[in-house]
Amino acid sequence: MRAQTKDADLLIAGGGMVGLTLALALARGGMRVVLAEPMSELAMTDARFDGRVSALAFAAVRMLGQLGVWQGLEAKAQPINDILVSDAGLGRNPSPFSLHFDHREIGEPLGAIVENRDIRMALFEAARAEPNISLLTGTAVERLVVERACAIATLSSGVEVVATLVIAADGRDSPLREAQNIGTVGWDYGQTGIVTTVAHERAHEGVAYEHFLPSGPFAILPMTGNRSSLVWTERNEDAARMMQLDDAGFAEEIALRFGAHLGNTAPEGPRWAYPLRLQLARAYVAARFAIVGDAAHTIHPIAGQGFNLGLKDVAALAETVLDAARLGLDFGEEEVLKRYERWRRFDSFVLAAATDGVNRLFSNDIGPLRLARDLGLGIVDRLPPLRRFFMRHAGGDVGRLPRLLKGEAA
Ligand SMILES: Cc1cc2nc3c(=O)[nH]c(=O)nc-3n(C[C@H](O)[C@H](O)[C@H](O)COP(=O)(O)OP(=O)(O)OC[C@H]3O[C@@H](n4cnc5c(N)ncnc54)[C@H](O)[C@@H]3O)c2cc1C
Repeated sequence: MRAQTKDADLLIAGGGMVGLTLALALARGGMRVVLAEPMSELAMTDARFDGRVSALAFAAVRMLGQLGVWQGLEAKAQPINDILVSDAGLGRNPSPFSLHFDHREIGEPLGAIVENRDIRMALFEAARAEPNISLLTGTAVERLVVERACAIATLSSGVEVVATLVIAADGRDSPLREAQNIGTVGWDYGQTGIVTTVAHERAHEGVAYEHFLPSGPFAILPMTGNRSSLVWTERNEDAARMMQLDDAGFAEEIALRFGAHLGNTAPEGPRWAYPLRLQLARAYVAARFAIVGDAAHTIHPIAGQGFNLGLKDVAALAETVLDAARLGLDFGEEEVLKRYERWRRFDSFVLAAATDGVNRLFSNDIGPLRLARDLGLGIVDRLPPLRRFFMRHAGGDVGRLPRLLKGEAA
C-alpha cells in the first residue's frame, strides 16, 4: 500500500518554543508549513513539564509582538528593572565589588521574565489558529531522504511529507542533525541547573540577582507577584543530593544561598534538574536541511540567552527563506541556506564562548581569580559606557538584526 503523502513548502521537526515560533514566522510570510512534534500539546503545557522561566531580551519581545504572541503574554510577564551581580561564597559576605545594571540608563526595561509554560501555551494557540500551519502533535519525524528537488520525510504516523526544505528544531540531542551526519563540538559542564519557584515576603521590584557561588551561579529571577524563579547551578553530585532532600532540607539550602533581602522564603511547587553542557553544531545547513535552536547550539544558562539565541536563528532563517522565495529562488538550495549559517553561526559561537568563560572564571574559590573577577566587576560598575554596552548586548540590540527582531514583518 502506498504511504499517504502531504506536500509542504517546509517541514519543521520539533514543536518546542523555537520550532513553534519558526512555524509562525514562516506561515505569516505565506509559506505552507507542516510541524511534527512527538509529544502531545497537553503533556507539553502541563505544569510539571517545564518549570523554567525565560529571561527574554527586548529584541525577542519585539519579535513576539510582531508575530502576535506577545499581546497575550504581556500581562503574565515581569519586566526586569535592575540586575545585581555579586561574587559571593556560602557563609561569606558578598564581595564589596558588585555590578549594578539599572534600566534607567537605557530608558527601557532590561528584558522580561515569562514562564516557559505560558510561552508554550501562547505559541500553540497562535499556531493552531494559523491556516498555513499543519500542526501534527504526537508525531515524530523518523526518516529523511534528500533528493535533488525536494526532501521526503517519513513521519511516525506513516505519512510522507514532501517539502522544499526540512528544518530540525528537535533540541539538544537532535536526531535529524545526527541522521544528516552533522557533528558537534562541546563538553559536559559537570554541573546541573536546579530550577524551582520561591515565594518571598517582600516585593522584588523587578530586580534580578546573580550570585556567583564557588559551585556555580545562583540566579534569582523576578516573576509576577512576590515570587522568583531560581536557576541554581551545582556540581552534579551535590545537585543530586539537593534534589533528594526533603522539603524542609531543600528550603534550608535555598535560604542559605538566597539571603534575607526579600524576607522569609519558601519554595513553591516541584523542582527540576537540567544537566548542563556546551554543544555547538559543526554546520547549520546542508542540502534542503537547516537546524535551529538547541539543535544548533546549547549553552550555559548563566546569562539566560539560549532561547534568545534560538529566536535569532528563527528571525534570520525566516528572512533568508522568505527573501529567496520572493525572488523566485529555490530556498532549499544549500547556497541560499549558507547565508543563514554565515549570519548566525559566529554570533552563537561568541556567546557560547563568553558564557563558558564567565562560568569558568566564577565557578571556583581560587583566591587570585576571585580578586581578578571582583576587580573586573568593580571596573565595569564604574564605567557607564561599558555598562550600557553590556545592557544593549543582553537586550539583543547589536549586530545586523533580522527584520523580525526589529519588530518588522519578516
Ligand atoms: C536551567 C535552564 C535555564 C534556562 N533559562 C533560559 C533563559 O532565561 N532565557 C533563555 O533565553 N534561555 C534559557 N534557557 C535555554 C532554553 O530553555 C533553550 O534554549 C530552549 O528551550 C530550546 O528550545 P528548542 O525549541 O530549541 O528545543 P527543545 O525545547 O528541546 O524542543 C525540541 C523539541 O523537538 C522534539 N523532537 C525530538 N525529536 C524529534 C523528532 N524526531 N521529530 C520531531 N520532533 C522531535 C522534542 O519532543 C521537543 O519538543 C535555559 C536552559 C536551562 C537548561
